[in-house]
Amino acid sequence: MKLAALGEVMVELAPQGADGAGTPLLAQGYAGDTYNTSVYIARSGVDVRYVTLLGDDPYSAQILATLAAEGIDTTAIEQLSGRSPGLYMIRNSADGERQFTYWRGEAPARALFADTVSRERLQAQLREVDCIYLSGITLAIMAPPAREHLLTFLAEFRRGGGRVAFDSNYRPRLWATPQDAQRAVAALLAQADIALLTLEDEQLLWGDVDADACLTRNADYPLAELVLKRGPDPVLLQSDGTVHALAVPPVTGIVDTTGAGDAFNAGYLAARLHGAVAAEAVAAGNRCAARVIRHRGAIIPAAQFAAERALAPVAASE
Ligand code: ADP
Repeated sequence: MKLAALGEVMVELAPQGADGAGTPLLAQGYAGDTYNTSVYIARSGVDVRYVTLLGDDPYSAQILATLAAEGIDTTAIEQLSGRSPGLYMIRNSADGERQFTYWRGEAPARALFADTVSRERLQAQLREVDCIYLSGITLAIMAPPAREHLLTFLAEFRRGGGRVAFDSNYRPRLWATPQDAQRAVAALLAQADIALLTLEDEQLLWGDVDADACLTRNADYPLAELVLKRGPDPVLLQSDGTVHALAVPPVTGIVDTTGAGDAFNAGYLAARLHGAVAAEAVAAGNRCAARVIRHRGAIIPAAQFAAERALAPVAASE
Protein backbone atom coordinates (compact mmCIF):
# COMPACT_ATOMS: atom_id res chain seq x y z
CA MET A 1 0.00 0.00 0.00
CA LYS A 2 1.29 3.44 -0.89
CA LEU A 3 0.06 6.93 -0.05
CA ALA A 4 0.71 10.22 -1.84
CA ALA A 5 0.47 13.45 0.14
CA LEU A 6 -0.08 16.80 -1.60
CA GLY A 7 0.96 20.09 -0.08
CA GLU A 8 3.70 22.51 0.87
CA VAL A 9 6.92 22.17 2.86
CA MET A 10 8.25 25.43 4.27
CA VAL A 11 11.51 26.47 5.84
CA GLU A 12 10.95 26.99 9.57
CA LEU A 13 12.98 29.32 11.77
CA ALA A 14 12.23 28.66 15.43
CA PRO A 15 13.73 30.33 18.51
CA GLN A 16 16.31 28.29 20.33
CA GLY A 17 17.72 30.23 23.23
CA ALA A 18 19.32 33.68 22.93
CA ASP A 19 22.78 35.16 22.63
CA GLY A 20 24.47 37.17 25.39
CA ALA A 21 22.60 40.33 24.31
CA GLY A 22 19.20 38.59 24.52
CA THR A 23 18.76 38.38 20.73
CA PRO A 24 16.96 35.11 19.91
CA LEU A 25 18.98 32.41 18.20
CA LEU A 26 17.08 30.54 15.50
CA ALA A 27 17.07 26.87 14.61
CA GLN A 28 16.28 26.03 10.99
CA GLY A 29 13.94 23.19 10.15
CA TYR A 30 11.26 22.21 7.64
CA ALA A 31 7.54 21.77 8.24
CA GLY A 32 4.08 21.91 6.73
CA ASP A 33 0.95 19.99 7.71
CA THR A 34 0.93 17.31 4.99
CA TYR A 35 4.73 17.09 5.15
CA ASN A 36 4.59 16.46 8.92
CA THR A 37 2.03 13.72 8.38
CA SER A 38 4.14 12.19 5.59
CA VAL A 39 7.20 12.02 7.84
CA TYR A 40 5.32 10.09 10.54
CA ILE A 41 3.62 7.83 8.01
CA ALA A 42 7.03 6.95 6.57
CA ARG A 43 8.40 6.38 10.08
CA SER A 44 5.43 4.05 10.66
CA GLY A 45 6.59 1.88 7.78
CA VAL A 46 4.16 2.87 5.00
CA ASP A 47 5.42 3.99 1.56
CA VAL A 48 4.79 7.71 1.02
CA ARG A 49 5.26 9.84 -2.06
CA TYR A 50 5.32 13.57 -1.29
CA VAL A 51 3.89 15.83 -3.97
CA THR A 52 4.77 19.51 -4.14
CA LEU A 53 6.73 22.06 -6.14
CA LEU A 54 10.02 23.47 -4.94
CA GLY A 55 12.62 25.86 -6.33
CA ASP A 56 16.19 25.17 -7.38
CA ASP A 57 17.86 26.98 -4.48
CA PRO A 58 19.90 25.43 -1.64
CA TYR A 59 16.83 25.29 0.66
CA SER A 60 14.83 23.31 -1.88
CA ALA A 61 17.80 20.96 -2.23
CA GLN A 62 17.88 20.56 1.58
CA ILE A 63 14.14 19.82 1.66
CA LEU A 64 14.58 17.14 -1.01
CA ALA A 65 17.49 15.65 0.95
CA THR A 66 15.46 15.71 4.19
CA LEU A 67 12.50 13.98 2.51
CA ALA A 68 14.82 11.34 1.06
CA ALA A 69 16.49 10.83 4.45
CA GLU A 70 13.03 10.14 5.91
CA GLY A 71 12.52 7.48 3.24
CA ILE A 72 9.89 9.55 1.43
CA ASP A 73 9.58 9.17 -2.35
CA THR A 74 10.38 12.51 -4.03
CA THR A 75 9.97 11.47 -7.68
CA ALA A 76 6.78 13.52 -8.14
CA ILE A 77 8.34 16.76 -6.87
CA GLU A 78 8.87 19.35 -9.56
CA GLN A 79 11.55 22.05 -9.20
CA LEU A 80 10.95 25.49 -10.71
CA SER A 81 14.03 27.43 -11.70
CA GLY A 82 14.77 30.68 -9.92
CA ARG A 83 12.30 29.97 -7.11
CA SER A 84 12.57 29.34 -3.36
CA PRO A 85 10.24 27.61 -0.89
CA GLY A 86 8.01 29.49 1.56
CA LEU A 87 9.33 30.47 4.98
CA TYR A 88 7.88 31.01 8.43
CA MET A 89 9.25 32.19 11.73
CA ILE A 90 8.07 31.29 15.20
CA ARG A 91 8.37 33.68 18.13
CA ASN A 92 7.48 33.05 21.73
CA SER A 93 5.25 35.86 22.92
CA ALA A 94 5.38 37.23 26.48
CA ASP A 95 2.49 34.94 27.54
CA GLY A 96 4.40 31.86 26.33
CA GLU A 97 2.22 31.34 23.23
CA ARG A 98 3.95 30.55 19.93
CA GLN A 99 3.27 33.07 17.17
CA PHE A 100 3.78 32.25 13.49
CA THR A 101 4.68 34.74 10.72
CA TYR A 102 4.70 33.47 7.12
CA TRP A 103 6.38 34.46 3.86
CA ARG A 104 4.72 31.98 1.52
CA GLY A 105 2.72 34.03 -0.99
CA GLU A 106 5.15 33.28 -3.82
CA ALA A 107 5.97 29.70 -2.87
CA PRO A 108 6.35 27.35 -5.87
CA ALA A 109 3.87 24.94 -4.22
CA ARG A 110 1.14 27.39 -5.22
CA ALA A 111 1.46 26.08 -8.78
CA LEU A 112 0.28 22.60 -7.75
CA PHE A 113 -1.98 21.16 -10.47
CA ALA A 114 -1.91 24.46 -12.40
CA ASP A 115 0.16 23.73 -15.50
CA THR A 116 -1.21 21.23 -18.05
CA VAL A 117 2.04 19.37 -18.75
CA SER A 118 3.11 18.99 -15.14
CA ARG A 119 -0.46 18.10 -14.14
CA GLU A 120 -0.61 15.21 -16.57
CA ARG A 121 2.75 13.93 -15.42
CA LEU A 122 1.65 14.24 -11.80
CA GLN A 123 -1.68 12.50 -12.41
CA ALA A 124 0.17 9.51 -13.88
CA GLN A 125 2.26 9.34 -10.70
CA LEU A 126 -0.81 9.66 -8.47
CA ARG A 127 -2.53 6.77 -10.26
CA GLU A 128 0.26 4.53 -8.92
CA VAL A 129 -0.76 4.97 -5.25
CA ASP A 130 -3.62 3.53 -3.18
CA CYS A 131 -4.49 6.62 -1.16
CA ILE A 132 -4.16 10.37 -1.71
CA TYR A 133 -3.96 12.65 1.32
CA LEU A 134 -4.37 16.41 1.30
CA SER A 135 -5.62 19.18 3.55
CA GLY A 136 -7.48 22.48 3.57
CA ILE A 137 -4.06 24.14 3.46
CA THR A 138 -3.28 22.28 0.22
CA LEU A 139 -6.56 23.59 -1.23
CA ALA A 140 -5.95 27.11 0.07
CA ILE A 141 -2.60 27.54 -1.65
CA MET A 142 -3.91 26.23 -5.00
CA ALA A 143 -5.41 28.52 -7.65
CA PRO A 144 -9.20 27.96 -8.04
CA PRO A 145 -8.92 26.46 -11.59
CA ALA A 146 -6.23 24.06 -10.32
CA ARG A 147 -8.59 22.99 -7.53
CA GLU A 148 -11.21 22.14 -10.15
CA HIS A 149 -8.69 19.99 -12.05
CA LEU A 150 -7.77 18.26 -8.81
CA LEU A 151 -11.42 17.49 -8.00
CA THR A 152 -11.96 16.02 -11.46
CA PHE A 153 -8.88 13.89 -11.04
CA LEU A 154 -9.87 12.70 -7.54
CA ALA A 155 -13.26 11.57 -8.87
CA GLU A 156 -11.48 9.50 -11.54
CA PHE A 157 -8.97 8.19 -8.97
CA ARG A 158 -11.79 6.98 -6.71
CA ARG A 159 -13.65 5.34 -9.60
CA GLY A 160 -10.43 3.38 -10.15
CA GLY A 161 -10.54 2.15 -6.55
CA GLY A 162 -8.26 4.76 -4.93
CA ARG A 163 -9.09 6.30 -1.57
CA VAL A 164 -8.93 10.00 -0.69
CA ALA A 165 -8.19 11.25 2.84
CA PHE A 166 -8.64 14.88 3.86
CA ASP A 167 -8.02 17.10 6.89
CA SER A 168 -9.81 20.46 6.64
CA ASN A 169 -7.04 22.31 8.58
CA TYR A 170 -8.70 25.71 8.27
CA ARG A 171 -6.28 28.68 8.25
CA PRO A 172 -8.42 31.81 7.67
CA ARG A 173 -5.60 34.03 6.43
CA LEU A 174 -4.88 31.69 3.51
CA TRP A 175 -8.38 32.29 2.10
CA ALA A 176 -9.86 35.45 0.55
CA THR A 177 -13.17 34.83 2.36
CA PRO A 178 -14.53 32.11 4.70
CA GLN A 179 -17.12 31.34 2.01
CA ASP A 180 -14.33 30.47 -0.45
CA ALA A 181 -12.95 28.03 2.10
CA GLN A 182 -16.38 26.54 2.77
CA ARG A 183 -17.03 25.97 -0.94
CA ALA A 184 -13.63 24.37 -1.54
CA VAL A 185 -13.81 22.15 1.56
CA ALA A 186 -17.38 21.03 0.76
CA ALA A 187 -16.41 20.15 -2.82
CA LEU A 188 -13.44 18.14 -1.59
CA LEU A 189 -15.46 16.28 1.05
CA ALA A 190 -17.81 15.18 -1.73
CA GLN A 191 -14.77 13.37 -3.23
CA ALA A 192 -13.31 12.00 0.02
CA ASP A 193 -13.42 8.62 1.72
CA ILE A 194 -11.74 9.51 5.00
CA ALA A 195 -12.23 12.88 6.73
CA LEU A 196 -9.83 13.64 9.58
CA LEU A 197 -11.27 16.82 11.07
CA THR A 198 -10.49 18.88 14.17
CA LEU A 199 -13.50 20.29 16.02
CA GLU A 200 -11.80 23.65 16.69
CA ASP A 201 -11.15 24.22 12.97
CA GLU A 202 -14.67 23.09 12.02
CA GLN A 203 -16.20 25.52 14.51
CA LEU A 204 -14.06 28.35 13.15
CA LEU A 205 -15.02 27.58 9.55
CA TRP A 206 -18.68 26.60 9.95
CA GLY A 207 -19.76 27.96 13.34
CA ASP A 208 -20.82 24.52 14.62
CA VAL A 209 -22.04 24.92 18.21
CA ASP A 210 -20.68 21.53 19.26
CA ALA A 211 -19.43 18.16 18.02
CA ASP A 212 -22.98 16.85 17.40
CA ALA A 213 -23.71 19.81 15.13
CA CYS A 214 -20.45 19.16 13.28
CA LEU A 215 -21.23 15.47 12.74
CA THR A 216 -24.80 16.23 11.64
CA ARG A 217 -23.62 18.85 9.15
CA ASN A 218 -21.16 16.39 7.63
CA ALA A 219 -23.54 13.40 7.61
CA ASP A 220 -24.55 13.71 3.94
CA TYR A 221 -21.06 13.44 2.43
CA PRO A 222 -20.31 10.00 0.99
CA LEU A 223 -17.52 9.45 3.55
CA ALA A 224 -16.70 5.91 4.64
CA GLU A 225 -15.34 7.32 7.88
CA LEU A 226 -15.27 10.68 9.59
CA VAL A 227 -12.88 11.19 12.49
CA LEU A 228 -13.33 14.24 14.74
CA LYS A 229 -10.28 15.13 16.83
CA ARG A 230 -10.85 17.13 20.00
CA GLY A 231 -7.48 17.42 21.77
CA PRO A 232 -7.58 15.32 24.97
CA ASP A 233 -11.34 14.69 24.65
CA PRO A 234 -12.56 11.42 23.11
CA VAL A 235 -12.16 11.14 19.34
CA LEU A 236 -15.52 10.76 17.60
CA LEU A 237 -15.60 8.22 14.78
CA GLN A 238 -18.61 8.27 12.48
CA SER A 239 -18.87 5.34 10.11
CA ASP A 240 -21.79 3.29 8.76
CA GLY A 241 -24.19 5.82 10.29
CA THR A 242 -22.91 5.12 13.82
CA VAL A 243 -20.91 7.43 16.07
CA HIS A 244 -18.33 5.95 18.45
CA ALA A 245 -16.64 8.04 21.15
CA LEU A 246 -13.12 6.64 21.58
CA ALA A 247 -11.20 7.81 24.65
CA VAL A 248 -7.79 9.45 24.24
CA PRO A 249 -5.40 7.79 26.72
CA PRO A 250 -3.91 10.39 29.10
CA VAL A 251 -0.45 11.60 28.09
CA THR A 252 2.08 12.68 30.71
CA GLY A 253 4.87 15.18 30.14
CA ILE A 254 3.27 17.09 27.26
CA VAL A 255 5.77 19.67 25.99
CA ASP A 256 4.28 21.05 22.75
CA THR A 257 1.04 20.10 20.98
CA THR A 258 2.13 21.69 17.66
CA GLY A 259 1.46 19.15 14.93
CA ALA A 260 -0.63 16.87 17.18
CA GLY A 261 -3.35 16.61 14.55
CA ASP A 262 -0.82 15.95 11.77
CA ALA A 263 0.76 13.15 13.81
CA PHE A 264 -2.66 11.70 14.65
CA ASN A 265 -3.49 11.60 10.92
CA ALA A 266 -0.22 9.78 10.22
CA GLY A 267 -0.91 7.11 12.84
CA TYR A 268 -4.46 6.74 11.60
CA LEU A 269 -3.63 6.49 7.90
CA ALA A 270 -0.63 4.21 8.41
CA ALA A 271 -2.80 1.83 10.44
CA ARG A 272 -5.61 1.88 7.84
CA LEU A 273 -3.13 1.19 5.06
CA HIS A 274 -1.75 -1.67 7.14
CA GLY A 275 -5.28 -3.10 7.22
CA ALA A 276 -6.49 -1.97 10.65
CA VAL A 277 -10.20 -1.18 11.06
CA ALA A 278 -11.13 2.46 11.72
CA ALA A 279 -11.44 2.14 15.54
CA GLU A 280 -7.98 0.53 15.74
CA ALA A 281 -6.66 3.29 13.50
CA VAL A 282 -7.98 5.94 15.93
CA ALA A 283 -5.99 4.25 18.71
CA ALA A 284 -2.91 4.28 16.46
CA GLY A 285 -3.54 7.97 15.74
CA ASN A 286 -3.70 8.75 19.45
CA ARG A 287 -0.47 6.84 20.06
CA CYS A 288 1.36 8.62 17.26
CA ALA A 289 0.18 12.05 18.51
CA ALA A 290 1.14 11.13 22.09
CA ARG A 291 4.70 10.39 20.99
CA VAL A 292 5.01 13.74 19.21
CA ILE A 293 3.48 16.06 21.84
CA ARG A 294 5.98 14.93 24.47
CA HIS A 295 8.69 16.78 22.50
CA ARG A 296 9.17 20.28 21.08
CA GLY A 297 8.29 20.96 17.43
CA ALA A 298 5.99 19.41 14.82
CA ILE A 299 8.78 17.11 13.58
CA ILE A 300 10.56 15.40 16.45
CA PRO A 301 13.92 13.70 15.82
CA ALA A 302 13.59 10.17 14.44
CA ALA A 303 15.51 8.72 17.40
CA GLN A 304 13.07 10.28 19.89
CA PHE A 305 10.11 9.05 17.86
CA ALA A 306 11.56 5.54 17.91
CA ALA A 307 12.29 5.75 21.64
CA GLU A 308 8.70 6.82 22.35
CA ARG A 309 7.48 3.79 20.42
CA ALA A 310 9.27 1.56 22.90
CA LEU A 311 7.27 3.21 25.72
CA ALA A 312 3.85 3.27 24.02
CA PRO A 313 1.61 0.21 24.02
CA VAL A 314 1.68 -0.92 20.38
CA ALA A 315 -1.19 -2.76 18.70
CA ALA A 316 -0.51 -5.87 16.63
CA SER A 317 -1.67 -4.03 13.50
CA GLU A 318 1.17 -1.46 13.62
P1 ADP B 1 -4.81 19.75 16.17
O1 ADP B 1 -3.34 19.56 16.37
O2 ADP B 1 -5.23 19.59 14.73
O3 ADP B 1 -5.35 20.99 16.84
P2 ADP B 1 -6.01 18.22 18.35
O4 ADP B 1 -5.57 19.25 19.34
O5 ADP B 1 -7.45 17.91 18.32
O6 ADP B 1 -5.53 18.50 16.87
O7 ADP B 1 -5.21 16.90 18.71
C1 ADP B 1 -5.06 15.83 17.82
C2 ADP B 1 -4.78 14.58 18.58
O8 ADP B 1 -3.59 14.76 19.38
C3 ADP B 1 -5.86 14.18 19.57
O9 ADP B 1 -6.89 13.43 18.94
C4 ADP B 1 -5.06 13.33 20.54
O10 ADP B 1 -4.79 12.07 19.98
C5 ADP B 1 -3.75 14.09 20.62
N1 ADP B 1 -3.76 15.10 21.69
C6 ADP B 1 -3.83 16.44 21.56
N2 ADP B 1 -3.81 17.05 22.76
C7 ADP B 1 -3.73 16.06 23.68
C8 ADP B 1 -3.67 16.01 25.12
N3 ADP B 1 -3.71 17.13 25.86
N4 ADP B 1 -3.60 14.81 25.71
C9 ADP B 1 -3.55 13.67 24.99
N5 ADP B 1 -3.60 13.65 23.65
C10 ADP B 1 -3.70 14.81 22.99
